[in-house]
Amino acid sequence: MRTCNDPDDVTAWARSWRSEGARVGFVPTMGFLHRGHASLLDLAHARCDRVVVSIYVNPLQFGPSEDLDRYPRDPEGDLRLCAAHGVDLAFLPETLYPPGFSTRVRVEGLTSVLCGAARRGHFEGVTTVVARLFGIVGPCTSVFGEKDWQQYVVVRRMAEDLHPGVEVVAGPLVRDDDGLALSSRNRYLSAADRVRALSLHRALRAIRDSREPSVPALLEEGRSLLEVDRLDYIAIVDPWSLAPLERVDRPARALVAAFVGNTRLIDNVAVDPR
Ligand code: AMP
Repeated sequence: MRTCNDPDDVTAWARSWRSEGARVGFVPTMGFLHRGHASLLDLAHARCDRVVVSIYVNPLQFGPSEDLDRYPRDPEGDLRLCAAHGVDLAFLPETLYPPGFSTRVRVEGLTSVLCGAARRGHFEGVTTVVARLFGIVGPCTSVFGEKDWQQYVVVRRMAEDLHPGVEVVAGPLVRDDDGLALSSRNRYLSAADRVRALSLHRALRAIRDSREPSVPALLEEGRSLLEVDRLDYIAIVDPWSLAPLERVDRPARALVAAFVGNTRLIDNVAVDPR
């Protein structure tokens, strides 16, 4: 496995692989990697000949009062996990924004709801860094996690609009044995908060498993199960437009974002029509 800090080296390697006819897969991450990330690396491998991973805590996607400074980091552990999952190139840039960088990429509509409403500017930071990374790597396929469902939908939209050569695919959300969605931020949780954090998945499971078609009734039930300190949202939406639904009469997605202690957690599940 190669490790690069310099974007030009990454571009050169990826270009040489493409020139040999190899399909280059790409998995962008912010590091502190866990089994959820590993599953995306495996998926990239299954679809591509070469796999590039980026590990970069992107300042542009954090708000002023968010956890940029304390975001967990473990570059050595990350590199071990990447090597164990057959990564060809790990890209760990010091920064991705050269002096004078002044471009922003914004997807409209999809980013004004759910996490976009709660975290102003967050998705602009995500799409700007992903567009820059797509430019550096030039992947055939880029793999994202369903854990961040809205991010996946937003990046897919951006790729359809701006990067027609890049296929964006999603891997399923990976959970701990007790149902908690794996997240780098789980390490902030105290033991007691971790127990309350399980209520996110419990609420979503209740919605998924209910036969009730009315969205207001489903959301009321979901809310009643949450044991959180602050609820950002719980919603049942069309999976691709993210528009709210009144009844679950077609495939839908239930999503929740809430603070447990000081930690903001998100989770989501697919909801079948009933
Ligand atoms: P992050 O390092 O949190 O920016 O995540 C990098 C990628 O890994 C994103 O596409 C996430 O959606 C994905 N990811 C994070 N946690 C999980 C999980 N538990 N299951 C599947 N994918 C995940």
